[in-house]
Amino acid sequence: MHNDFQLLDGKKVSQEIQTKLKTQVQEFKNKWGRAPGLHVVLVGQDPASQIYVGHKEKMAQNLGMASKVWRLDEKTSQADLEKLVKQLVDDESVDGILVQLPLPAHLKDEPIMELIPFTKDVDGFTKPSLGALAHGEPLAVSCTPAGVMEILHHYGISVKGLNCVVVGRSLIVGKPMSLLLLNADATVTVCHSKTKNLKDFTRNADLVVVAAGKPQFLGPEDFKKGAIVIDVGIHRDQNNKVCGDVRSEGLDKVVKAASPVPGGVGPMTIVMLMQNTLKLAQARMERNEY
Ligand code: NAD
Repeated sequence: MHNDFQLLDGKKVSQEIQTKLKTQVQEFKNKWGRAPGLHVVLVGQDPASQIYVGHKEKMAQNLGMASKVWRLDEKTSQADLEKLVKQLVDDESVDGILVQLPLPAHLKDEPIMELIPFTKDVDGFTKPSLGALAHGEPLAVSCTPAGVMEILHHYGISVKGLNCVVVGRSLIVGKPMSLLLLNADATVTVCHSKTKNLKDFTRNADLVVVAAGKPQFLGPEDFKKGAIVIDVGIHRDQNNKVCGDVRSEGLDKVVKAASPVPGGVGPMTIVMLMQNTLKLAQARMERNEY
């Protein structure tokens, strides 16, 4: 093991944030006489989405939020889905709207996302939210990268001046992750599927966030001694065991800190959704939008 290896325990951090949020939700209720409202729209039967939405529903309830899941039939039309989203936009008791992706193939997600205003975009996915993040003035930030920043903060890791590499450039993970690191004064390189000699980048980085969606495609040999590694990937291997984008065996002998899979970034994502809901609710109350 590296002399002072630090396991970045997202499960523990998530539990601590949940405890804080529970109190903050109660304070919100005492002050405003209502609970923050998170509404999730789930279309169809995608098994992974059913599980994710179930977890979101449960955590929102545990924290005392007013949450509702709209479970729509697989064959729901674009017009009906848009009608529901517009209804939620107009409903003043709704603070956060989340449309669970992916949608069934016959539905287009872009027009749906366009309907969700910045002020209720609890997932931070829409163009105005990403634009605000680029300006360094975000309201709700995409939950997975926000969770990564929260873990780093919890363990007292400042990225200021660090040479950070983000592997992946998706709209929900890689891009917002790179902006968050940049806003926190890191020097950021974004690598992706067309990057040549990826390992030349990862081996020189002080901090690597791996979000390529490729099971165990990097290992201890791909990082510099004393680096920090955040593994965003979630997969099931042939034995149905959960693993990440990084091979964890022997990693602790090379790097100084790493987040495990499971128990790293995963548990942070949902709790960040709850934090975003509360934040949006508070912002709406302060703007007299209720
Ligand atoms: P995605 O498929 O949308 O994007 C993957 C990105 O990786 C792309 O930008 C692509 O260019 C890049 N990439 C692919 N192969 C590469 C390679 N060989 N070298 C370098 N870059 C490569 O995936 P996503 O939605 O960003 O998710 C990434 C991973 O994170 C997935 O495993 C996903 O399951 C996981 N994820 C986890 C959470 C969580 O809560 N922990 C949340 C979201 C996503």
